[in-house]
Amino acid sequence: MKLEIRQVQKSFNRTPALLPTDLTLEHGQFTTLLGPSGCGKTTLLRMLAGLEQPDAGAIYADGQCIYSAEKRIDVPTHKRNLGMVFQDFALWPHMTVYENVAFGLRAGKQKSDLRQKVKEALDMVRLKGMEDRYPHQLSGGQQQRVAFARAVAVRPGVILFDEPLSALDAVLREEMRIEMMALVRDMGLTALYVTHDQVEAMSMSDEIVVMEKGRILQKGRPETIYATP
Ligand code: ADP
Ligand code: ADP
Repeated sequence: MKLEIRQVQKSFNRTPALLPTDLTLEHGQFTTLLGPSGCGKTTLLRMLAGLEQPDAGAIYADGQCIYSAEKRIDVPTHKRNLGMVFQDFALWPHMTVYENVAFGLRAGKQKSDLRQKVKEALDMVRLKGMEDRYPHQLSGGQQQRVAFARAVAVRPGVILFDEPLSALDAVLREEMRIEMMALVRDMGLTALYVTHDQVEAMSMSDEIVVMEKGRILQKGRPETIYATP
């Protein structure tokens, strides 16, 4: 899926979190938003996801308008064909691994072959046999795999990551990074990845978008980004 962000902006209590911004995520492209805490990365991601309403501007998915402040178009999150993975994993503690992954499919109304789809997603992240465990019975890395499986089980067109590895130790971070990246590429997903970690950004992106104080400072392929804030 191709996503186009046009002149999107957002303020909180009259303080700009994101100045008018243009950004295009090409189909199958892995884009990283890099920048210090508070520069507006999460706000931009949340607006793409439909979790935050831009004050102005428009967003298009494969040419179709999914948000327009002017035209009062606001396609709800569950109809935007996206998967999300967050820093805290956001798994339901009272649900098993199986139920956590099935939950997203039910919400997305993809109920046919539910069992098969859950199985496939869990196989993909090497969690076969863990279906009946609860999140607290899993390691951090395993929890992150469940969150990833849940996000991709619905076969989204785009996957949004918000600092997904920050809660893990350095060794696991590296391992998960390589694993998630390979899966995203295999599935041909368009990806947007938010991080403040330059090494992470350099090692996984087709394009890095460097942000500072609510705006884009520079963008380009990793090898063309020399200076970062
Ligand atoms: P980043 O993800 O780069 O750390 P954010 O997008 O979370 O930055 O935040 C950008 C700015 O917007 C910050 O100044 C933050 O305090 C502010 N902000 C974000 N969300 C809210 C909110 N719900 N209410 C008020 N201010 C917010
Ligand atoms: P529904 O909401 O449609 O009733 P269920 O949660 O009952 O869905 O389960 C849907 C299918 O998945 C059923 O065939 C059920 O037996 C199977 N299932 C449920 N839990 C597990 C599990 N832990 N491992 C494997 N299959 C499961």
